[in-house]
Amino acid sequence: MTDPKPRQKTAIVIGAGVGGTSTAARLASAGLSVLVLEKNSFTGGRCSLLTTPTGYRFDQGPSLLLLPRFFHQTFEELGTSLAVEGVELRKCEPNYRIWFGDGEAFEMSSDLARMKGEVEKWEGREGWERYLGFLQEAHRHYEVSVEHVLLKNFTSLGSMLRVSFLRHLFELHPFESVWGRAGRYFWTERLRRVFTFGSMYMGMSPFDAPGTYSLLQYTELCEGIWYPVGGFHKVVEKLVEVGERKGVEYRLNTAVERIVLDEKGERAVGVRLESGEVLKADVVVNNSDLVYAYTQLLAPAENAGPTPYAESLAQRPASCSSISFYWGLSEKVPGLEAHNIFLADEYKESFDSIFKKHLIPDAPSFYVNVPSRVDASAAPEGKDSVVVLVPVGHLVDAPAPPPSSKPVQSNGHANGHLHDTKDTNPDNPTISSLSPATQPGIQPTLHQDWPAMIALARTTILSTILSRTGVDLAPLIVHEETNDPVTWQKKFNLDRGAILGLSHSFFNVLSFRPSTRARRGSPLLDGWVGKGGGVLGRVAELVGDLGRGESGRIKGLYMVGASAHPGTGVPICLAGGRLVAEQVLGDLGMRVPWREEGEGVVGEKRKEGKGGLDVVERPMWLDGWTEWTSVLVLIGWAAVMGLLALFRG
Ligand SMILES: Cc1cc2nc3c(=O)[nH]c(=O)nc-3n(C[C@H](O)[C@H](O)[C@H](O)COP(=O)(O)OP(=O)(O)OC[C@H]3O[C@@H](n4cnc5c(N)ncnc54)[C@H](O)[C@@H]3O)c2cc1C
Repeated sequence: MTDPKPRQKTAIVIGAGVGGTSTAARLASAGLSVLVLEKNSFTGGRCSLLTTPTGYRFDQGPSLLLLPRFFHQTFEELGTSLAVEGVELRKCEPNYRIWFGDGEAFEMSSDLARMKGEVEKWEGREGWERYLGFLQEAHRHYEVSVEHVLLKNFTSLGSMLRVSFLRHLFELHPFESVWGRAGRYFWTERLRRVFTFGSMYMGMSPFDAPGTYSLLQYTELCEGIWYPVGGFHKVVEKLVEVGERKGVEYRLNTAVERIVLDEKGERAVGVRLESGEVLKADVVVNNSDLVYAYTQLLAPAENAGPTPYAESLAQRPASCSSISFYWGLSEKVPGLEAHNIFLADEYKESFDSIFKKHLIPDAPSFYVNVPSRVDASAAPEGKDSVVVLVPVGHLVDAPAPPPSSKPVQSNGHANGHLHDTKDTNPDNPTISSLSPATQPGIQPTLHQDWPAMIALARTTILSTILSRTGVDLAPLIVHEETNDPVTWQKKFNLDRGAILGLSHSFFNVLSFRPSTRARRGSPLLDGWVGKGGGVLGRVAELVGDLGRGESGRIKGLYMVGASAHPGTGVPICLAGGRLVAEQVLGDLGMRVPWREEGEGVVGEKRKEGKGGLDVVERPMWLDGWTEWTSVLVLIGWAAVMGLLALFRG
């Protein structure tokens, strides 16, 4: 008699963000029965769309598709491809136009000839060689990070001590800032700004972000910025479809209230929905914001406060939030490219006010995206849709400020005459005209008068765009929606409204980032040392957890998404989905289908049976410092031995 067929393992995924949908599809393709529960009526989370009945379409969050290899890899490992699924990726050229306050602009491009002209214009002929040097360094950052960080899990302190990783640690320049490294290659302030603002995408100031993150500039310059026709959500839509074909079930409008653990609190056994229904599963994968999940979904008991571990997470540095405007325009504005960056004159101060003081800065650097410039389907014919992302500090717990005596516009819909940013006309106040004399901005608190804040930001942004580009958007706006830190928090349960999750400073990445296997709190470790969320607490936690081994985990519970390893951004969350799916399958003793089909990053497959012109012949000369050092050591050794022999003789 043959054994009965083993019961199909079940998984519940909380949240249909990029991390959740990609993990769900991978688990289903490996044979699990998967149910995805999503609180909203739509999938994608931050990577979703806003549409109007009049035909405007906006990407609610991401608009820059970077590191395309992770997108291709995900679909190919699911047995399909972006092309087969009907996703057309369109390359954006130029990458950006960067507008400065002095009236100058810099056009960033992945076209070498165009970049040569632009770089030499500001840094002279030798500047080009330095630019190539910058690219070479950023290339190392990129390749080493992809191979040793994004495609590898960091499950404990031990993972960080892997020789294969440690060997490359200093090549990544994690202890210098993006700004510091750029200063070696770019000798003008203008180009230092041009090549550093990108760390905003990690929700960090270039003055604090580890030098490693020049890999973002690298992927933009060497692989290009792409846009999926139909909107960024197309990628998620197709992940959902592929998953459904493999048996994944999606339940929208279904909020999870708690993750249910067994009596000892050692293992996740299912979830309880807000409706009270309890659903059981062998595995629970959480894709809701990680800090929110530890604070709310894993609170020790009904109406109990958060655990000390959840408290320590809530005190870790987080990325920024944003005030985002979604504008439908009555006509096209050819003066704007698909991607436009407006850099603040007080560059460092504008970052300090967001990331150190957590303010809505007086004069922010901001990003303007015109999706209809790349994909006409984003707006009605002859019109444009525009998204403006103004990075601001995340929400802070602060008392309500005293009411301002100055009047503010209470909504952002007025199409009025615009003023210069420095104009303090009381009918149209700017952020600077209302921020207290002691600080360059306004504090984003929960009880802030957000409509008033949005109106202030709106005036500041519109007048900056007008003064730098000559484009007067205000009279063209026929549709307007906004997201602010409170909206981000409420819509997607994002802790502190931080749009990119936990910070990516050194002590918040690698093994220091919350692990993809859920951590079980420890009264001893999370007590006074861990509570402050400081560096000491994190080191103590890691060392202590090494000793706790399996008892330091909640079995059957995994974390995927922006605040878990490897981190934020759509491609990085896709990489996270891969790592988590592999971890789940490994823990269940199941096979990982995509591993069996051969390792290696998709897109790098060499042609079978190559020969003749394609034979790889590595030159024999010495081209690496390790080889030179070995040769010099050998020569030195031979010389010493020779001398010794001479003297002895
Ligand atoms: C304004 C903005 C601009 C960005 N720009 C870019 C960009 O250009 N390029 C890029 O690569 N990245 C960008 N990002 C970052 C990127 O969007 C995120 O890193 C990524 O989408 C996060 O995915 P995630 O898997 O963590 O899931 P999330 O998007 O956080 O999704 C989690 C899901 O869980 C759901 N959920 C929460 N709580 C519950 C609950 N209790 N029950 C059930 N469901 C729940 C939420 O509704 C949500 O759908 C941007 C983000 C923002 C906000």
